[in-house]
Amino acid sequence: MPPRRVIGIDAGGTKLLGGVVDEGLVVHHRVRRTWRGADRAETLDIFVEAVDEVRAAAPDVDAVGFGIPALVEWETGVSRWSTHLPLADVRFRDVMSERLGLPVVVDNDANVALLAEARHGAVRDCSHAVLLALGTGIGSGLLLDGRIYRGSRGMGAEIGHMVVDLHGPDCQGACPGRGCLEVMASGSTIGREGELAARRSPSSALGRRLAAGREISGGIVTELAHDGDEAARSVLAEVGRRLGYGLVGVVNVFNPEAIVIGGGAIAAGELLLAPARAVVAERALPAARETVRIVPAHFGDESGMLGAALLAFDSLAAGAAA
Ligand SMILES: [Zn+2]
Repeated sequence: MPPRRVIGIDAGGTKLLGGVVDEGLVVHHRVRRTWRGADRAETLDIFVEAVDEVRAAAPDVDAVGFGIPALVEWETGVSRWSTHLPLADVRFRDVMSERLGLPVVVDNDANVALLAEARHGAVRDCSHAVLLALGTGIGSGLLLDGRIYRGSRGMGAEIGHMVVDLHGPDCQGACPGRGCLEVMASGSTIGREGELAARRSPSSALGRRLAAGREISGGIVTELAHDGDEAARSVLAEVGRRLGYGLVGVVNVFNPEAIVIGGGAIAAGELLLAPARAVVAERALPAARETVRIVPAHFGDESGMLGAALLAFDSLAAGAAA
């Protein structure tokens, strides 16, 4: 019998990555979409179109797993609220299952990314780990005593919306907070701080890129930093330090064995992680900081897609047992 296949869809604040995944975690077809400015109906249509596209290439799939950037009520599969997408009070699991004609399972995007890293990736030997995915926002997941911790209704573990600056800027999207870690240290922040640095240093590579009319994104800052541009490197160092202050709280509260940093911004690698580690080494409570590892995601920005697929396999196994 050929190995079972499922579709894993990882949705972030501005883009979606999906694929057909087999039981060996081999990805057979990938699909990418963006949805800047899409309303609720358009957003749901994009999910359906993405699944249809990969399904056309591999029709023999058994289920679909979704990781979405939302507060997902775990038991019901209802998306209660989202900072970045118009997905408040959407019966996501049921709507998608009806439209796709397949079993569907849905969880928060960072929870599924952590599932992949905990079973097969950077923290596969850990029972206590925390994942932060730095992209448009900051998604996060908690592995406590070997289980994904979701809070009382499945909507917890939002470390990105932990306040790190009382007088900081308004948070992103629909978040009512200000000075949240997400607005201080996400991939979007790297782009925003990069643009400010470009204006301060017009002769830097970053400044010349802005003068040439290019939008300064987190990806551009990271690329120029890897090329050695000091202005770009200083942006990553500053954002890395801010991330570090968020991680101080994580280390002190959860005493994890490891913290995994994923999402698109992890392309910056040590340029972001080394300053974060330095802050933790200086500011976190000594006994806990000495044992925590701060590491990049093993699966890079594909953790979420693979974790969504793992969740789909889990749901099939549970159904077979019932
Ligand atoms: Zn917030």
